Amino acid sequence: MTESVEVAIVGAGQAGLATSYHLKQAGVEHVVLEGGRVAETWRSRRWDSFCLVTPNWSVQLPGGEYAGADPDGFLPRDELVQHFERWARSFDAPVQEGSPVSAIDRDGKWFVLTKPDRAVRARNVVVASGGYQRAYHPPGADQIPARVHQLLAEDYRNVSSVSEGAVLIIGSGQTGCQIAEELHDAGRTVFLSCGRCWWAPRRMGGQDLVWWIIESGWWQRTLAQLPSPAARLLGNPQATGHHGGRDLNYRTLHESGVRLVGRFIGADERKVHFAPDLAGTLKAGDDMSRVFMKWVEALCAKRQLAVPWEVPEPMAIADTTELDIDAEHIATVIWTAGYRPDYSWVHAPVFDDMGFPIQTDGRSDVPGLYFMGVHFQRNAQSAVLYGVGEDAQVVASHIVERRS
Ligand SMILES: Cc1cc2nc3c(=O)[nH]c(=O)nc-3n(C[C@H](O)[C@H](O)[C@H](O)COP(=O)(O)OP(=O)(O)OC[C@H]3O[C@@H](n4cnc5c(N)ncnc54)[C@H](O)[C@@H]3O)c2cc1C
Repeated sequence: MTESVEVAIVGAGQAGLATSYHLKQAGVEHVVLEGGRVAETWRSRRWDSFCLVTPNWSVQLPGGEYAGADPDGFLPRDELVQHFERWARSFDAPVQEGSPVSAIDRDGKWFVLTKPDRAVRARNVVVASGGYQRAYHPPGADQIPARVHQLLAEDYRNVSSVSEGAVLIIGSGQTGCQIAEELHDAGRTVFLSCGRCWWAPRRMGGQDLVWWIIESGWWQRTLAQLPSPAARLLGNPQATGHHGGRDLNYRTLHESGVRLVGRFIGADERKVHFAPDLAGTLKAGDDMSRVFMKWVEALCAKRQLAVPWEVPEPMAIADTTELDIDAEHIATVIWTAGYRPDYSWVHAPVFDDMGFPIQTDGRSDVPGLYFMGVHFQRNAQSAVLYGVGEDAQVVASHIVERRS
């Protein structure tokens, strides 16, 4: 059996639902094919205590703007999922849950989307399957001895999902830092293998960090403004929404007793090895913070505000280039070294050598094939709850124009 629709959207996360919202407003017939349930990624790939790092007022989904009693708070996972469910219901989003798409192919002017039960033919397709698809494992990851339990950050649920003993977390973006803090607070010995990540204070001059990010134009940066295409892999600044939102970065973790080590480079039966690069990594983080600081300073100059922050003195921590697995009682490794795109099931020649869709404002070179939620799709806010709505409106408008 084959069903035919004008537009098929793949994915009912924020990118797919925001596109659905705008297509609904424009009266365009469409369906949203979702492999799991609405907001599946937030449900099944986030840990139990997860809460947003961005404040609630910055949840600016179209027709699903946060309007609760705690705009300066940070929604916990389950409340965010409920917010998504209410939002999808509010505009009667035509979501087909439990509909994983295993392939998208061309058939003349149609796209054919393969699902387990049947195919769907669509004139237009919007791929909104998420920007964080495949967990990245650095070279040497397969050398960790089998006696050490390994899990991905997306499989971590809570302290009890980690065997007794010390934990080595490999990857130090927002997720790595938050899991490190949770495990350390629960009394575990935690080693954090640090990569190139930057940080900024949670609050500056009486405003939240995200206010400064938005007002300074930091999230308006485009891919062309980055030093290289690879620079889009650099994460958002280290910070947390826990405890009402506060600083969480290399300095706070070090002060609390989390042991910072350099970049993971491999392992043998007895030891895990790290590059002697911790000083360089910490300096690179501070340098990146200084780049952001320039944007903050420019905003302050424009609005005649006092500059609210100075990057502190460099941190000095001696390098640890190896950890003895048994002597340190390391029982678990948690991988949180970032993600890479995986669109292998989209059969069209529209991907760059890093696997990202080649697109302009969401449109690929294949007429009718669109993407949503891509990192730096239009700019740095394309893949966050604050900015995705603008991109969705642009994509929906283009689909409307194409039909006429
Ligand atoms: C750990 C983490 C924390 C984050 N915290 C914040 C934050 O605090 N604030 C913020 O603004 N942003 C945050 N983000 C960034 C961003 O908001 C999320 O990644 C968000 O989930 C992206 O939305 P999306 O709709 O593009 O993708 P997703 O939410 O991943 O949605 C994609 C949907 O597509 C479905 N799907 C995938 N493949 C298929 C297929 N082949 N067939 C059918 N369905 C499919 C999935 O099941 C999923 O429901 C965070 C990201 C991560 C990884």
